[in-house]
Amino acid sequence: MATTKQSLAQQRRADLAARLGDISGEQEERLAQYRATAQHLPYISLTTYPLSAEALLVASKELAKKAKAVVFYRRGGDIRIGAVNPSLPSTAKLLAAVRKSEGVEPQVYVISERSLLSALARYPAPRQTQEDTATTPKALSPPFIDLAQLTEKIGQVPPTRLLDYLIAAAVQLAASDVHLEVAESSVRLRLRIDGVLMEVAQLSKATGQMVLSRVKILAKLKLNVSEVAQEGSFSLAVEQGMVDVRVSILPGRSGENIVLRVLVRNRAAFEMTGLGMKERDYELVAKELGRTIGLVLVTGPTGSGKTTTLASFITEIVSSELKIITLEDPIEYHLTGVQQTQINRDAGYTYTQALKAALRQDPDIIMVGEIREIETAETALHAALTGHLVLSSFHTNDAAGAIIRLRDMGVKPYVLAPAINLVVAQRLVRKVCKNCAESYRPDKHFIEELRDAMAGVDRDIFEADSLTDKKFSLLKAKGCQQCLKTGYQGRTGLFEVFAVTDKLEELILKGASAEAIIDEARRSGMTTLLQDGYLKALDQITTIEEVLRSTIAD
Ligand SMILES: [Zn+2]
Repeated sequence: MATTKQSLAQQRRADLAARLGDISGEQEERLAQYRATAQHLPYISLTTYPLSAEALLVASKELAKKAKAVVFYRRGGDIRIGAVNPSLPSTAKLLAAVRKSEGVEPQVYVISERSLLSALARYPAPRQTQEDTATTPKALSPPFIDLAQLTEKIGQVPPTRLLDYLIAAAVQLAASDVHLEVAESSVRLRLRIDGVLMEVAQLSKATGQMVLSRVKILAKLKLNVSEVAQEGSFSLAVEQGMVDVRVSILPGRSGENIVLRVLVRNRAAFEMTGLGMKERDYELVAKELGRTIGLVLVTGPTGSGKTTTLASFITEIVSSELKIITLEDPIEYHLTGVQQTQINRDAGYTYTQALKAALRQDPDIIMVGEIREIETAETALHAALTGHLVLSSFHTNDAAGAIIRLRDMGVKPYVLAPAINLVVAQRLVRKVCKNCAESYRPDKHFIEELRDAMAGVDRDIFEADSLTDKKFSLLKAKGCQQCLKTGYQGRTGLFEVFAVTDKLEELILKGASAEAIIDEARRSGMTTLLQDGYLKALDQITTIEEVLRSTIAD
């Protein structure tokens, strides 16, 4: 391995040689190897490498050409990109797009220009448009990478294919929902990205009607009914894999409004390490998930990411020796190695009934989607006391609130105290876009506020002296092309986690107040949602504004 100094010299030589032009293939490969060494990246030759269409189509040919980079390998969460010059802005853009659409960090290799040309030449020809059904896989790789380009292209897509195109686009842009809202003379198309609705285009009413019909056919809804709300779902294959789409249709003044929730199966996003938990919280959760009995509760308001957290907890503990049953309404993610069941209230199949039925199946672990009634709570707690690990979500603002609310529902403290192992409260915050964020130093007044808010936090996690450090700064969101002018890109969780220690168990048993429970939890090392948020702002992951927005009690 050459030292950096040598490598730089080699690179300079390589650049010079390239500029002089007219070098043989072998030389060109050697130069690519030099460049790889200089940048501490692996090198690969693609001239004879077997390339699959699946890998190549992660990025369109047009995009690959522009970025001077190709996706040459793709298997599960392992994506490899060959780039002629990884530091090109257009290459960085491609990397960001892949990262976003695939949810994983691609591995970058340095390739020669020859390799690039060879790979581009082997791109599959655009597939023929055929009569499509929802169940047969088809190539639908939208030739764009950002929202502005989608807005531009959308008018060129034939209305009959628009729905499939929109779903593929939503997956590519990591949008969670597609909204089609009918107005008097047009249909407004919006995508929800990172929790925020983004305007895409205004469609004609005729186009909107065609999309509506196709949605209804795929979701097996009544075509001739337009006065009542309808719900359904369908699955669709796009380049990125199978997508489950949940449909909600609501009649409005000017027609039927559609909301499509887009869920990609087996996204790598279920890794527990990807949730954004700090080490202390992560270790606590991992330890409690290793137990065979007890209740683990995840709390937070709607849209705070509870379902994803539960899915990642399940993914963490899945193994062939354990029988895991989930009760969900609706099933949002397909989890491998898990028996998932769907609650059906209309048919009288409630959480309580499903839970009782599941217990007869001799499971080790049960996930109850949500506890809403006392009966479900009692059954779940009983299961937790009798040899099952039970995971569930609950609708409260903070971790201590979960205990109080269960008690208010009528759960007896002597059942609750020994059954409950761990409580996790959470919120989602948007991550600040590193491409455009501005660094600033907060004023003295706010630094004092921070110091007060962080009082009592473990010194391993937060050092108060860091606030007076000369280099201390925070980030402010700005907005650029890359973050769709929002100033933010991607999301992460804020967490408030406590395990029920002997002291806490005693407090719960005594019917202590929420304040007393929080105080004790903090003494045992818990950071509150706000403190965790400030820590993430101090780490420049998000902004103070975003932390305050998401933690203000609702
Ligand atoms: Zn930006």
